[in-house]
Amino acid sequence: MKRGKLLLIGFGPGSEAHLTMRARTAIEECEVILGYTTYVDLIRGLLRDEQVVMQAGMTEEVGRAQEAVRQAELGKVVGVISSGDAGVYGMAGLVYEVLMEKGWTEADGVEVEVVPGISAINSCASLLGAPIMHDACTISLSDHLTPWELIAKRIDAAGSADFVVALYNPKSGRRTRQIEEAQRILLQYRSPDTPVGLIKSAYRDRQSVVVTTLADMLNHDIGMLTTVIIGNNSTRLYDGKMITPRGYQRKYTLGSEKQTLAPHQRLREENEPWALHSVDEQQGTVEARPAPEQKREQVESLSARALADEALGCLYGAQESIAVASSPSSFVQEQIFEFAVSPGVANKKLSAAQMMLLAGIVGERGSMDYTPDHQFRISLPTANPDEVVSRLREAGLLVLPVGNVITVKACDFCDGEKTDSIPYADEIQALLGGIDVPKEMKIGFNGCGMACYGAVKEDIGIVFRQGKFDLFLGAKTVGRTAHAGQPVAEGIEPVEIVGLLERIIAAYREHGHPNERFHKFFKRIKQIEGFTYEEVPVPVLAEAACGE
Ligand code: SAH
Repeated sequence: MKRGKLLLIGFGPGSEAHLTMRARTAIEECEVILGYTTYVDLIRGLLRDEQVVMQAGMTEEVGRAQEAVRQAELGKVVGVISSGDAGVYGMAGLVYEVLMEKGWTEADGVEVEVVPGISAINSCASLLGAPIMHDACTISLSDHLTPWELIAKRIDAAGSADFVVALYNPKSGRRTRQIEEAQRILLQYRSPDTPVGLIKSAYRDRQSVVVTTLADMLNHDIGMLTTVIIGNNSTRLYDGKMITPRGYQRKYTLGSEKQTLAPHQRLREENEPWALHSVDEQQGTVEARPAPEQKREQVESLSARALADEALGCLYGAQESIAVASSPSSFVQEQIFEFAVSPGVANKKLSAAQMMLLAGIVGERGSMDYTPDHQFRISLPTANPDEVVSRLREAGLLVLPVGNVITVKACDFCDGEKTDSIPYADEIQALLGGIDVPKEMKIGFNGCGMACYGAVKEDIGIVFRQGKFDLFLGAKTVGRTAHAGQPVAEGIEPVEIVGLLERIIAAYREHGHPNERFHKFFKRIKQIEGFTYEEVPVPVLAEAACGE
């Protein structure tokens, strides 16, 4: 007798275009096809008259699986069809269960082939944009075969671990409360605004796609043919599409500018403080941790929520896992926060308390560089940059953005003796410090004619002399051809200086090319606020000590 064959075929969402080639040839190969009536109707166009089709209702799945095995044992080529993928809440598992019960083995039993198909999570996601993208899970809300308590635990775990969730079998005529419960559980971890997609009959005749929110989703039609895709805490809406970013971590600076790392910097260990290597550094080596069995014993008695927190703790280090535990309402997302700190524009003295606060905030995981601009430059992984800023500001520290922004550098006003011009320095800092410019820019400010802090060597230099201001523009601060700023004006009245600077900077912001340094900009546009650019004298060539 011919050896029978079982083909467990996933035919995808329901359109021929989304049926795989193997699914098509597998369906053609079958002598007998078993399937739920609606599914058989969906592939009707592919069937031939001589094929025996056995249709059955939804609830007769076990009978269908047993019949399929029986037919195959009679030597037939038998297809069992499932929508989507046969191995995702489909018939594949059930058929294997029947085979296992009969002691089937691959070597001497009927031949079995599982033909993969596009599951609803993928077909439905494609209609929404890119909502899956990152770690995601599927949860079926059908409690016919699974205890609700277990389903609720899984929803809770998915919520706390920030998985994107695809809910299958979300609702039927009789099962209406499950989706309400799922919403309630997820709202403990996610914002009511979390994007949610409701896809009904994807790639079928009555396809409908609704993009809504976690708070509002129950006000729309959800049924047996719907898949509900719930975004995680990073999922965003863009032009009606649901997009989940690939990376969790972003570089973050104060102000509007979000800085991305250059490609060659991205994979450096210090730029991935969330990765396993950093967790190892914080917690000792992997070997030093308890063995998995020990861990399991420790957590066995914990709730699903505590378990997920435990898992997060392993990922993000002890501190953050405590933060997560104390704020059950949402998953905390870390970013690398970069900023600069100084005691003030004029003030150069840091108190011991300020130093200790700073050290505490930077901690083991951050880094702190002292720069030539009289600032500490901090890089810190944190889930809460706003809190960091407010704690430092409360302690009287100046917290400033970094990158292509204006930095105001002032002298110490002879240790606070020459105080007349300090209010102007403070005003310039308040108005212009930290604002975006085409390329990083420094404004130097000296409180007396000695100009010992080198204001004239900055992009813009201001020197307070005999009650008025001298202005220098366009120093080239680095390189072999470095030069001081061009002295463009002397004796500017104090009431005019701040407004004049504002106008110069407005012109630079408006007309400067991206990444164009201020001295280049001045050279290119020639005139700014009535000041004319003058060519810098070409240096006289001295006899080179060696070489040319
Ligand atoms: N094996 C199937 C899932 C069967 S469970 C697969 O892999 O996709 C049935 C559930 O799947 C439905 O309640 C619905 O949530 C989802 N589903 C299946 N096909 C779908 C489609 N075309 N559009 C939307 N949801 C679908």
